Amino acid sequence: MAQLGEFPRVPETMDEDRSRTDDRVEPYIECRDLFKIYKRAELEVVALRGLDLVVDPGELIAIIGASGSGKSTLLNLLAGLDRPSAGQVRVGSRDLLDISDRDLVMYRRLEVGFVWQATGRNLVSYLSVRDNVELPMAMAGTKTGDRRKWSSELLAALGLEGKGDRLPYQLSGGEQQRVAIGVALANRPPLILADEPTGELDTQTAAQVFDLFTQLNDLYSVTVVLVTHYPGVAQYVDRVVHIRDGRISSESYSNPTFQRSGETVEDEYLVVDRAGRIQLPQALSEKFQAGGLAIVDSDGENVTMRPVGERPRPVRNSPLRRGRARPEERETTG
Ligand code: ADP
Ligand code: MG
Repeated sequence: MAQLGEFPRVPETMDEDRSRTDDRVEPYIECRDLFKIYKRAELEVVALRGLDLVVDPGELIAIIGASGSGKSTLLNLLAGLDRPSAGQVRVGSRDLLDISDRDLVMYRRLEVGFVWQATGRNLVSYLSVRDNVELPMAMAGTKTGDRRKWSSELLAALGLEGKGDRLPYQLSGGEQQRVAIGVALANRPPLILADEPTGELDTQTAAQVFDLFTQLNDLYSVTVVLVTHYPGVAQYVDRVVHIRDGRISSESYSNPTFQRSGETVEDEYLVVDRAGRIQLPQALSEKFQAGGLAIVDSDGENVTMRPVGERPRPVRNSPLRRGRARPEERETTG
């Protein structure tokens, strides 16, 4: 068991990796060519199609994307609540594709905390705030004294001092979500996942919850992955990852120059995956629809893409084809 107030931060294997000469930190989350296919009766839904995502230890990222783009699917896979169909997904030292059912239970209990959108889903309605926070610790076998100490520290960090004896319904929506974050942090997991945690809150309360995530991320070096629709989220996170049709299409970062002047301006970058695949923004991809082909060129520094309006006609008398009967000839001679 870790000391009170101290998270296991990153597994030991990663500390070793940190001492490597190239000083690149081993990612805490690594998804490679990840697929999730749901089978519903006769129908197959491809929710994730070759998704690549790498998250560093201690990073705080937000995932945004249209409804149905695969955000919850990704989070459920990372939470060990569902299993991927193909590809690779590693969290810390766990390979979540090959993991046994028994290890998956341990992973869910100790290595990941989850916050849902619906406050009612996060808390047990008949338990006090403090008992809610202590419940995961009790299930993990933490001693009563240790539970009490850590829940007190957490409630203070969450700005809920003096509210430990209340029942969830005696709190505001924002306060309930803060308790939910406390529950997620109870067993000091190195990773917190939150699926639209502010979806039911007003803008101002939502901002406070995001503020809290950044503080906890700083305080405990916990890695955080949030799914959100909150427009101003970029200013609270290290990176915003955009998901489209089950793949990561682009990433954006809050521009530090503008942020210092109080404005939020985001710089957005297209993601080029390891296989060289990109997803053009909708408006640009329409330019290529006529022929469905592009000419790609480079002047050494920049890469340009030019739409080919019409498909070129195949050259039927090429030497490679010589001696091969044309389809119409085949029909007449056959
Ligand atoms: P998001 O969270 O971005 O709105 P989801 O990950 O929930 O998207 O869903 C991605 C796609 O997978 C959608 O087309 C959705 O209908 C489908 N899907 C999600 N969960 C299931 C399920 N349990 N069974 C069948 N299809 C599902
Ligand atoms: Mg969702």
